[in-house]
Amino acid sequence: PSAIAVLTSGGDSPGMNPAIRGVVRAALHRGIKVFGINKGYSGLIIGDLEEMNSASVTNIVQRGGTILKSDRCEAFKDPAVRHQAAEVLKEKGIDTLVVIGGDGSLTGAHYLTLENDIRVIGLPGTIDNDIYGTDDTIGFDTAVNTALEAIDKIRDTALSHESLFLVEVMGRNSGFIATHVGIACGAEMIVIPEYEVKVDAISSQLASNREQGKGSSGIIVVAEGPKPGLTYDLAKQLKNHGQQPKVCILGHIQRGGIPSGHDRILASCLGASAVDYLCAGYNDIMIGVRRGKIVDTPLAQVIEKSKELDEALFQRALLLHK
Ligand code: ADP
Repeated sequence: PSAIAVLTSGGDSPGMNPAIRGVVRAALHRGIKVFGINKGYSGLIIGDLEEMNSASVTNIVQRGGTILKSDRCEAFKDPAVRHQAAEVLKEKGIDTLVVIGGDGSLTGAHYLTLENDIRVIGLPGTIDNDIYGTDDTIGFDTAVNTALEAIDKIRDTALSHESLFLVEVMGRNSGFIATHVGIACGAEMIVIPEYEVKVDAISSQLASNREQGKGSSGIIVVAEGPKPGLTYDLAKQLKNHGQQPKVCILGHIQRGGIPSGHDRILASCLGASAVDYLCAGYNDIMIGVRRGKIVDTPLAQVIEKSKELDEALFQRALLLHK
């Protein structure tokens, strides 16, 4: 490539900074110019970008969020606006864009290269881990650990007051965070969008837990699901079944914080690999990881296919909590 630009887009995730650092340092090492674009596609459209050097990414490997800032940009769904974005890049002599973001951001990147003479490489940056073509996404591990830290504290209160807590974790339409968090915090139950919620079953499970002498305290981990308010609805239904649940929504704390060692390594390797793939002539792909190996998947597939939750893992989690 003549010059590369890099941006972060959509929901931020811990590890975006080491990913940026990986891209920048690998590009510079190969003598390729690299530009940082501020505020995702919104910044790209208006040409809010500057050349980066080694010092631009000094001391960021451990920082949460993204130094390039992130944004959502409805306008980028318009092909004319994407054409304008391509012109901005060409004017600066940039022929390649690295996009770090979730499903939506990768969709935008795919269309940008389909319609314009710009090459793109995507990196999976989201806490949700809901991206096809990779076992793991940048930020997922940190988000799971952040949720765990909070739930360990909630459990102290749950035990002291013998109360039942419904703890809502993020994950939009996917139950990855909830399943992993549920296993690791020893939740009594896990509720995820992939499976129908049967309030009767939850209630009788709680009753049988009590009979077994487990007391009435407990944690049920609930994935936020596609529409807000699901956890409060569930609490209401459980109240109708004689339970007294308290609700705790963990919310945005899960998106922030110092990236875990795992996420720093993943992000750094994916960032550097993006440059390797670009230099090898690849385009319109996402770089991910499968069984510990760096792999590439066409963006068209990443967008089209959905990543299935490991059902065996979920079933095991349910058994563990019985
Ligand atoms: P994430 O990347 O975390 O999934 P969003 O779904 O909000 O977050 O997408 C981030 C941005 O990606 C959007 O604001 C928009 O600029 C771009 N984008 C999303 N979907 C499309 C699409 N279908 N076509 C073009 N750009 C898109």
